[in-house]
Amino acid sequence: MPANPPDSLPFNPVPRLDVSHLTRAFGGRPVVEDVSLAVAPGQVTCLLGPSGCGKSTTLRMIAGVERADAGTVQIDGRLVEGPGVHLPPEQRSVGLMFQDFALFPHLTVAENVGFGLRVDRAEKARRVGELLEKVDLSGFGPKHPHQLSGGEQQRVALARALAPKPRVMLMDEPFSGLDNRLRDGIRDRTLELLKEEGAGVLLVTHEPDEAMRMADEIALMRAGRIVQRGAPYNVYNAPVDKAAAAFFSDVN
Ligand code: ADP
Ligand code: MG
Repeated sequence: MPANPPDSLPFNPVPRLDVSHLTRAFGGRPVVEDVSLAVAPGQVTCLLGPSGCGKSTTLRMIAGVERADAGTVQIDGRLVEGPGVHLPPEQRSVGLMFQDFALFPHLTVAENVGFGLRVDRAEKARRVGELLEKVDLSGFGPKHPHQLSGGEQQRVALARALAPKPRVMLMDEPFSGLDNRLRDGIRDRTLELLKEEGAGVLLVTHEPDEAMRMADEIALMRAGRIVQRGAPYNVYNAPVDKAAAAFFSDVN
């Protein structure tokens, strides 16, 4: 394939993440039903909805730690989940960040960041140094996690998740554990870095104001289903129904 498509072709990049009709039940009870969403390169899609609506289960199927009953997941055009296909998480080119971003307490910051990297020592040291610089933690490499603040630990977790250059970063309420004072700065910096790296981001949140602030596209979820998709401005100004309007009513 040519590096640059001819000018006559429409600009139509393959989505970093393309989820189609994803479905999952537990004990006969549907939890995720017919969920479709997409993340373009360098873009943030927010999966937004109240607690218990099925956001984490959706993310877990995309990550490969949970099996789908039906539907497909494609990453950079490659089928990673679908009928008869269930690639393990480490073969999906996804990064994961959760609220409990547990670092390995017995390893140094540098060892934590380099943990999943399958490269030689010199390349590992180079990549770890580069990532610590990106998250403004140069010089923190030899420290241990317990010597760091919550915000600093979060940035180490981000560097670790970025290390293998994932095509898609899956984030499940990663900022909820931080106090308000820290949160805005860290989440803005996090997304800036992810965009620089060219990753797509799927950010799960139950907070409308976070989605409004961070998202290029919002997928609004309720009781296992996507009820509306669109740009934040449109979803906010033209909610699909009264329940959606009420959900957004506390955004200011
Ligand atoms: P959210 O992340 O939006 O809060 P979840 O995806 O965690 O929602 O959960 C959606 C529903 O699925 C909840 O009712 C939850 O109890 C149920 N659920 C999630 N995982 C399992 C499981 N492994 N077994 C049974 N029920 C589950
Ligand atoms: Mg959840």
